Amino acid sequence: MAETIIADEFGRSFRYLRISVTDACNFSCSYCLPNGYCKDPTADSPMTHSEFKHLVAGFAALGVRKIRITGGEPTLRRDIVELVQSASETPGIEQVVLSTNGYRLKGLVPALRKAGLQGVNVSVDSLDPELFQRITKTSLLPQILNGLEASLDAGLRVKLNAVLMRDLNSEDLPRFLDYIRHRPISVRFIELMRTGDHPDFFESHHVRAEALEEWLVSQGWQLRERGPLDGPAREYEHAAYAGRIGVIAPYSKDFCGNCNRLRISCRGELKLCLFGDKQHSLRAFIQNESQQSELHAAVHYLLKGKKISHFLQEGEYGNTRQFASIGG
Ligand code: SAM
Ligand code: SF4
Repeated sequence: MAETIIADEFGRSFRYLRISVTDACNFSCSYCLPNGYCKDPTADSPMTHSEFKHLVAGFAALGVRKIRITGGEPTLRRDIVELVQSASETPGIEQVVLSTNGYRLKGLVPALRKAGLQGVNVSVDSLDPELFQRITKTSLLPQILNGLEASLDAGLRVKLNAVLMRDLNSEDLPRFLDYIRHRPISVRFIELMRTGDHPDFFESHHVRAEALEEWLVSQGWQLRERGPLDGPAREYEHAAYAGRIGVIAPYSKDFCGNCNRLRISCRGELKLCLFGDKQHSLRAFIQNESQQSELHAAVHYLLKGKKISHFLQEGEYGNTRQFASIGG
């Protein structure tokens, strides 16, 4: 029997689903939640474990093979280990990974690993404790770095995410290079993206990653080939380093051509593009396991609305107010 793969009108297929499990966060990153998380009393509660399970099973049957659990801060959920376990036990799911700010990582690593987690992406915008504190308003860098070591020791694939910001960490590359010389960690520099809540911060801090990529190439770093379940980073490797450098540059030409991912908000809404202006609730179709065909019909129908590209260059940023609400 032929394998199911969901695809859109432009021939892109979707093997990778990013699921937010909460929009709450305990950090106040300057580019995301500069004033901290503020609960919306009118919003529905996040998906339950059982809704999450039905969602993952439904998408796995549509050909999704990789699940990223994200937030907000997903480790704020008390059932985070159980969510990872459910996703990794779902038939068809080959990879389960987690995006986190890392504050609970060290203590959670053994249980997460046992539950089937394969990789973590940890936000570390600077390796300088003072600068880290300025960006995130926390002094937790040492704990987070311990969590990264524990993750490596446990055999997790470790990626470190740093949002590139002018006048903040854009000169931090040497520290990151030292850090990955002997550690098999991929550091990914993400171009700051504009969201509804912080247009001024974007204007004053956005810097393109092109110069960084040109520098990497000039220093002998080589672009790696992208795997079918890989995210949007262009990753470079170098014989003198155990780690890699990746660049996520959504403003670059052709960024959307190899889009392989869909997103679900913590309330079970499908978002077809990070910069789209709509989300579509799937919640009614994930209440029990007998609803898979309704879920599949809804996803097939909604996918017809996925556009060929974002329209950032035309000044359209969609309706995402900040990434804590969808998981980045
Ligand atoms: N709290 C977790 C964390 O920080 O990794 C997971 C959620 S966070 C929204 C996911 C990723 O989005 C992080 O790597 C964060 O740096 C990135 N992010 C948030 N706002 C961003 C923005 N405006 N531009 C680029 N990346 C952003
Ligand atoms: Fe929280 Fe992650 Fe947003 Fe920072 S980037 S405020 S850690 S959700």
